[in-house]
Amino acid sequence: MSKTWDVSDMDNWRSDQFPNGAVIPVAGNSEEYSTGGWRNVFPYRNDEKCTQCLLCWIFCPDTSVLVKDDKVYDFDMKHCKGCGVCAKECPFDAIEMVPEGCELPEVKK
Ligand code: SF4
Ligand code: SF4
Repeated sequence: MSKTWDVSDMDNWRSDQFPNGAVIPVAGNSEEYSTGGWRNVFPYRNDEKCTQCLLCWIFCPDTSVLVKDDKVYDFDMKHCKGCGVCAKECPFDAIEMVPEGCELPEVKK
């Protein structure tokens, strides 16, 4: 059974009333937040190394590995926060975390 939090008085909440943490007042609202704005590195997938095992898709905590017809084809940059989990978990070393603004042709070398 889901629980709905009463947030009607939220403007009067003070930080010293709560321990460190966060309140998620509505379930499933993470898609509304552009967590891509946190990113300072982004994942670059090498198509030649990638075997389409889909482990990066399974492990990405933000469902930002985009798959179509059982194949990874891109990343959702609106939500990818650059955590690097996909690169860490890829068993074929096919994903490299690259600084924002990096020229991709140089990365491919
Ligand atoms: S984990 Fe690596 S090899 Fe597997 S689909 Fe993702 S990028 Fe490709
Ligand atoms: S860097 Fe993190 S958020 Fe972005 S695609 Fe990889 S696992 Fe997902």
